[in-house]
Amino acid sequence: MTSFAELKLAEPIQKALAEEGYTTPTPIQAGAIPYLLEGRDLLGLAQTGTGKTAAFALPILNHIFSNRRPAPPKGVRALVLAPTRELASQIGESFAAYARHMKFSYAVVFGGVGQGRQIEATRRGVDVLVAAPGRLLDLIGQKYIDLSSLEILVLDEADRMLDMGFVRDIQRIMALLPKQRQTLLFSATMPPSISDLAHSLLKDPATVQVTPESSTVDRINQAVMFVDSNSKKDAALMLLESPSVARAVVFTLMKHEANKVAEFLNKNGIRAEAIHGNKSQGARERAMAGFRSGAIKALVATDIAARGIDVDEVSHVFNYDLPNVPESYVHRIGRTARAGREGCAVSLCDAEQRAWLKDIEKKIGKPIPVVTDHPFHSEEARLSTQRPPVLGGGRGGGGGGGRRRSGPPSGGRPGGGRGGAPSRSGHRSGPR
Ligand code: AMP
Repeated sequence: MTSFAELKLAEPIQKALAEEGYTTPTPIQAGAIPYLLEGRDLLGLAQTGTGKTAAFALPILNHIFSNRRPAPPKGVRALVLAPTRELASQIGESFAAYARHMKFSYAVVFGGVGQGRQIEATRRGVDVLVAAPGRLLDLIGQKYIDLSSLEILVLDEADRMLDMGFVRDIQRIMALLPKQRQTLLFSATMPPSISDLAHSLLKDPATVQVTPESSTVDRINQAVMFVDSNSKKDAALMLLESPSVARAVVFTLMKHEANKVAEFLNKNGIRAEAIHGNKSQGARERAMAGFRSGAIKALVATDIAARGIDVDEVSHVFNYDLPNVPESYVHRIGRTARAGREGCAVSLCDAEQRAWLKDIEKKIGKPIPVVTDHPFHSEEARLSTQRPPVLGGGRGGGGGGGRRRSGPPSGGRPGGGRGGAPSRSGHRSGPR
């Protein structure tokens, strides 16, 4: 296994990593850092929790350390674009932690707060700027920031930036950058819009992919409980009341369901908050802060909203609804067991969602252990051969389209649901 010393990172960086308690690089770090130190462009397919921040931050810091020169006034040597202010702040904090033993300047800019301090922080130029696209363009437009001397660009969570409608902003920023630069694009998923973006921005990129299957799924204790849909709330409450649950993310398919579940839990003594696309930025931030501090035990989230949940100590993931897209299951349960910790994922499966469970088991290449020893067990759900409900929209997130039951059996098979051929793909590195 590679060590940070083998990655040939500069000594002050290694010292900071040792202090952070990092002993071995994660797969995305071991895969990406050697390419990045060579100056290659990179397409990194990894979600949060895999250590992707350090995968780009460490080689950037190494570059700054080994090529010491001041950034020009208002200038930026490395720019990291991130979709939200929470993520931008976290990235900034990570840089500061890893750079604590070297000379280094950085700033974080995002909207929703006054400009004054951000202008002051960038006035003399910075080694690294972490920015949300909208505010960055504002500041560039007012001539407070100048990107003409940029050396390295990182697009973090590019898929989420596109989801959030930042594509035009990104294009505008690209037009202001020097052609000669190193470009890194990180994304959890690879829809056609991301491969188009990668194609247009990256030159002969190395590709490093970390599928959550190998990095986290094996460490997660998974179980499924068959229940009737009208006992799901009580079953969720029972699960959340267990003393082993420190912090839990509860997934629903629909936004209104997330609200209802959160309300029910609160009424029954479990502090819960719903987060989904209809919540304001302020409400989301308050919910996240409460969750981080431990004041809130359960975040009830739809798939898309959950992608902003960046908390290491999630002990449990509960699928109140199973996801209709098997990949979402892997993403959801990857909210727990982060950074080497243990985690638990329990899914509630009703008769309607029985067929989705089979798809998920096929995706992860093994059956999920069934727990029947609880007051809500439903044989009807276990043996269901119903076709899955039809949902509007292609993605497993709070989209429109009502749930409806559709016709009778369609090849669904009762019983334990042993999945198809194993399809574990593990961690892969691109061409060298
Ligand atoms: P990220 O995917 O960048 O959000 O990182 C997830 C978590 O893993 C963060 O809390 C990091 O501090 C932690 N982390 C990143 N790299 C390592 C490593 N090599 N060893 C231990 N923890 C790490």
